[in-house]
Amino acid sequence: METRKQFIRKTIGLSLFPLFGKTMRLSELHNLKNNLKATRRMPVLFLGHGSPMNAIEENEFVKGFRDISYNIPKPSVIICISAHWETPGTFVTATPNPKTIHDFGGFPQELFNVNYPAPGSPEWALETQKLIKITEVVLDDKWGLDHGSWSVIKHLYPLADIPVIQLSLDYRKGPQYHYELAQELSDLRDRGVLIIGSGNMVHNLGKVAWRRLNETFAFDWAAEAQSKMNAFIEEGNHDALIHYTKLGTAFEWAIPSPEHYLPLLYTLALQDKNDAVVRFNDKPVAGALTMTSLKIG
Ligand code: ZN
Repeated sequence: METRKQFIRKTIGLSLFPLFGKTMRLSELHNLKNNLKATRRMPVLFLGHGSPMNAIEENEFVKGFRDISYNIPKPSVIICISAHWETPGTFVTATPNPKTIHDFGGFPQELFNVNYPAPGSPEWALETQKLIKITEVVLDDKWGLDHGSWSVIKHLYPLADIPVIQLSLDYRKGPQYHYELAQELSDLRDRGVLIIGSGNMVHNLGKVAWRRLNETFAFDWAAEAQSKMNAFIEEGNHDALIHYTKLGTAFEWAIPSPEHYLPLLYTLALQDKNDAVVRFNDKPVAGALTMTSLKIG
């Protein structure tokens, strides 16, 4: 796959140097890089966020998040659908400076000290509101960035220089509805917007082996659900994944509640026919979670 750097190099080499017939000044190069932002349809990400400790630990998953960011053009804005913001209706954060929300307990103080000061974007919140027709989206000024978004986005964009807005999950609605809502966001991919779903495909906290938290292993049912999910994703069989409640016991245990799974459907709904899917961080942890993440497009 072509990296952003290669793309920039190629673009400069092929067209601009002959065009200008002189050495390009740094300011011109800077303008060129900025202009590149919106020239390519953006990929879509599903990120398995796992434990909030991933926010401050250095491990293979964090490296996976970092590495994937190198293959993505710099976005104008990030829209994150996090498992950790469920509401009666669909809300979008619309404040210029969203607060970092530490929505967990029982973790070291170091984790509570993390602040991710990415700006918000009232303008893009409004754009998102306008684009969604399936329901009336509410502009929100109370939420901020929950750990479903900041604990992973901080690894992709450590400088916190990309505005981030969050779109909530309407807990009253079923998977088909969420899939259809997400499809309405498709045009944003052409406008430099990076859409991220953040959850975990397999997520059963009631079955987690808490004493083996850092171990990469899966219980049988979790391994079965993981491999079937991956196969459906590879086949592009979104229909099966939308109707996951019909897929038997392994799926019942893997998805005891929908909030960590639904962000996956938001991501898949934005897949174009010819989009390749890159799977990374595809490992189980603590028996009952998977960190499987996707880059689509
Ligand atoms: Zn979570």
